[in-house]
Amino acid sequence: MKNIAVIGSGTMGNGIAHTFAQHGFDVSLIDINTAALQRALQTITTNLDKQIKKGTITDGLKTNTLSKIKTYTDLKPGVENAELVVEAATENEEIKLSLFKQLSELCSNTTILASNTSSISITQIAAATKNPGNVIGMHFMNPVPLMKLVEVIKGKQTTQQVTDVVMELAKQLDKTPVEVNDAPGFVANRILMPMINEAIYTLYEGISGVEEIDTVMKLGMSHPMGPLQLADFIGLDVCLAIMNVLYTGFGNNEKYAPCPLLINMVDEKSLGVKTGNGFYKYTPESKELVVADRFKTLLK
Ligand code: NAD
Repeated sequence: MKNIAVIGSGTMGNGIAHTFAQHGFDVSLIDINTAALQRALQTITTNLDKQIKKGTITDGLKTNTLSKIKTYTDLKPGVENAELVVEAATENEEIKLSLFKQLSELCSNTTILASNTSSISITQIAAATKNPGNVIGMHFMNPVPLMKLVEVIKGKQTTQQVTDVVMELAKQLDKTPVEVNDAPGFVANRILMPMINEAIYTLYEGISGVEEIDTVMKLGMSHPMGPLQLADFIGLDVCLAIMNVLYTGFGNNEKYAPCPLLINMVDEKSLGVKTGNGFYKYTPESKELVVADRFKTLLK
């Protein structure tokens, strides 16, 4: 396998494109938003520079990696030669179903169609295509160049051959793949998101403050990052979308109802790192974590 197409050049898409290109694959990076593509190339360059500084890659590998990524705003030229497509567009069922329907028309019968979705059913996405056996979940973790895990999700109709190819491919990227079955949130987000949602509830109910909640989980549970900082990092819109999939996917189970504070923050576009404000505030200059003004005092 040589040609990979990545759809969506946001938080995850740029990392997935970076990782495949760094490991020698030719990558077509596709986004409907030209500014997002420019930002992605900038982020990839900055992250490659960080890798050089750490001594994990050479200058030559940086140049080679960047030369392997081509950008597109149209789907057709971007995916026509792809042997594998990894879709990392916005976490929205309608967008994903429409994309997979188009991919099924534009790609060859042997192209593997993977989704990086955090929670949407792979079986349902596959049903929008002509070859559901070729559709699989390839769930990378953020930040993709650094995180070892790839959750490989088998839909009801995914073939064993496609699963084996994707498991092997993940190893070629120096990742550790874990095979799981299709269910709301799969394994990673079924466990992680209710924990993040519960952390937001403890803030919302005035049980404790942002830094205190994160400190409890960092020092008490040895988590490298607190749940509120992690939510900012993932994107609060993505967290809310996943909670909604868990809520409806498990039959409107109240256990998975998103916290009103999370809904409110997404409504006002406080989405975390990507908008510069969430539970903490982010500026390009600031190296230290600073709690957002609205959370400087306890909420209740
Ligand atoms: P994001 O909002 O940062 O980026 C999404 C990108 O998709 C945007 O640039 C948008 O312009 C583009 N897009 C939307 N519709 C498109 C279309 N029809 N064609 C091409 N591009 C389109 O989102 P993200 O955080 O990178 O998430 C992408 C996917 O990865 C989601 O399915 C999400 O659930 C999943 N995911 C996210 C994380 C995380 O930590 N953020 C982790 C694992 C998986």
